[in-house]
Amino acid sequence: GSRDGADLNVQAAVMEFDGFRAVDAIDLQIKGSEVRGLIGPNGSGKSTTVNMLSGVYVPTKGKLSWKGVDVTSFPPHRMAAAGITRTFQNLQLFHELTVLENVMLGFHLHYRKGFAANILHTPGFLREESHFRAEAMRLLQFVGLAEKAGEQAAALSYGQQRLVEIARALATKPDLLILDEPAAGASLYEVDNIVRVIRKVKDSGIAILLVEHHMEIVMNVCDTITVLDFGKKIAEGDPAFIKNHPQVIEAYLGG
Ligand code: ADP
Ligand code: MG
Repeated sequence: GSRDGADLNVQAAVMEFDGFRAVDAIDLQIKGSEVRGLIGPNGSGKSTTVNMLSGVYVPTKGKLSWKGVDVTSFPPHRMAAAGITRTFQNLQLFHELTVLENVMLGFHLHYRKGFAANILHTPGFLREESHFRAEAMRLLQFVGLAEKAGEQAAALSYGQQRLVEIARALATKPDLLILDEPAAGASLYEVDNIVRVIRKVKDSGIAILLVEHHMEIVMNVCDTITVLDFGKKIAEGDPAFIKNHPQVIEAYLGG
């Protein structure tokens, strides 16, 4: 990424699974370094949207453009190289590796679970290792976990593991960081830390797309919120507007 922030333009994106529309003609624009919330009831299409934006799925219809480039059918490693990186709803850390090693893996844009750990021992990686190590330490400092660098990832609490994932995602130098439920499984104290880190990421010029069902976090940290229901965008606006939006209230309370 070039630190110009985000420039994402999603036009009428559709994602169908066997004819079922999980995402139904969504438009979405994210610019600069805003924190955008993506909310909606269970099954409303949030993770599917994230999967399209990160190249896991190619939209059935519609167009994704990023910094003026058509990235509609980019696979994940090309999305990451272009500056769009995501974390997963389910933690994807390597438990047997140290916290530092997990972050160091982020410097490799395209790895698959299974052989990723071997990357740490390839000649190319070893040549640049001291550089990666220093950068990974800097990122651990950024998320407040420098003193955990040498511990096994498995030894950390859930909330701390979430922060390690954010540090690893930041290693790809994104301009848009997509966080799918970063507070899932975290304690209240850890939620405060995650919110603090989200603000720091934004202040460093990176845009965030935050999928989160803890309403306090969403209302607290987002500049703009996009609301999905049954795969469609039903509302978009600042937290005060969304909080009082009749259709949003109905979608959440079941009308
Ligand atoms: P959310 O993240 O908002 O809870 P999802 O995007 O995971 O919702 O799912 C939206 C809808 O699409 C759900 O009905 C879900 O069952 C369906 N869905 C998601 N992924 C797939 C898939 N790979 N195959 C079939 N259906 C899917
Ligand atoms: Mg989901």
